[in-house]
Amino acid sequence: MKTSQCPICATGELGFFSAMDEIQYKGQALSVKVEYAVCQHCGDEMILPEQIKRNDCRTRDAWRKADGLLTGEEIVSLRTQLGITQQEAAEMFGGGANAFSKYERGEVIQSQAMDNLMRLAMEKQPVDVSEWLRNRAGLINPEQSYSKVVPITAKSKRLNVVPSSAPDLSENFKEASYG
Ligand SMILES: [Zn+2]
Repeated sequence: MKTSQCPICATGELGFFSAMDEIQYKGQALSVKVEYAVCQHCGDEMILPEQIKRNDCRTRDAWRKADGLLTGEEIVSLRTQLGITQQEAAEMFGGGANAFSKYERGEVIQSQAMDNLMRLAMEKQPVDVSEWLRNRAGLINPEQSYSKVVPITAKSKRLNVVPSSAPDLSENFKEASYG
C-alpha cells in the first residue's frame, strides 16, 4: 500500500493496517476486516475516507452473508459464468444502469427478489419456479405437509366416525345438514 502524510500532525507518514472487528447484526456477531491507518510520527490512529468506504462495503458483504444473499464476489463470479458485462446484467435483470457495479462493490445490497432472480439464472436444468422459490424461502409444500400432518377436519371426523352398523345416524345427519 502507498504511504501518505498524516492529516493530523502533517509531518509523519501513515502506516496502513487492518484488523478483524466484531459487529452485531440481528443478534449475531459477525467478523469484518477493518482497515485503518496509524501515523508513524504522532501515533494517532485514524480511518481514512477511502478506508471507510471499503470497510462499509465489507460490512455489507457480512450482512449479505448473514441474510443468505449473494456477496459481491459471488455476484462477480455469477456474472462471469453467464459471460455478461455489468451493463448487460443490468439490462437482463433490471435494477438500473449501475446496479451491478454497486452490488459487486458492496455499495448497495440487492433485494431478495433480485438475489432469487440471479440464482435462478444460474440453474442449468429447467426448474419449477414456484417450487424453487418455495424451497428457497423454506416454506413447506402443501402437498408434502398434508401427507405428514392430519388436517384438523379429518381428525375430528375420525373421532366422530359413524359405525357402519348405524346407517340411520348418517341419514339423519345428511337430512339435518340440508335443513
Ligand atoms: Zn501524525
